[in-house]
Amino acid sequence: MKPAVGSADWTRAVPDEDSVAILAAGFARLIKPPMVLFLQGDLGAGKTTFARAFIHALGFKAYVKSPELWFAGVLCVAGMTILHLDLYRIEDPEELDYLALRDLYDEKSVLMVEWPRKGVDHLPAPDLELEFFEDPETRFISSFAKSIAGFELNRELLQKI
Ligand code: ADP
Ligand code: MG
Repeated sequence: MKPAVGSADWTRAVPDEDSVAILAAGFARLIKPPMVLFLQGDLGAGKTTFARAFIHALGFKAYVKSPELWFAGVLCVAGMTILHLDLYRIEDPEELDYLALRDLYDEKSVLMVEWPRKGVDHLPAPDLELEFFEDPETRFISSFAKSIAGFELNRELLQKI
């Protein structure tokens, strides 16, 4: 998948996992919940790697496991509630209703969703869309603001990372 880089708010090369960790640390420093992040990109593009790096940058010490079904889990860290979904294997977006996201998602939440298109109409609207992609030389992350809160976060990220 090749996003329209020209229209992104910013695009960063992330040639290795250390550079993902640096970017994720910027998010951890600047993010203000509530916030919904959609993580887009092909299988293996780096979505879970970013989600894990973000959770660790917030101060979570233990291993962040991969989603078994489509629900990766809820973590409470740094005064935030991190909800991580990977909808790759979801069969019907209505399965999301059993999660009662409306009850789980509150003003302290950061919701990260891999494969959000598979949950269409059953997810809150995103504040930010992150696109993960690669070319023969390296990997990239592009960010697109989808709300005023997302726009503000992107503006701060651009200044400080
Ligand atoms: P996705 O969740 O998009 O399917 P993953 O985050 O699971 O992809 O990453 C797939 C593989 O690529 C993993 O082995 C991971 O270690 C590696 N990887 C992810 N991001 C990078 C990066 N920026 N540089 C190098 N390797 C990466
Ligand atoms: Mg993944």
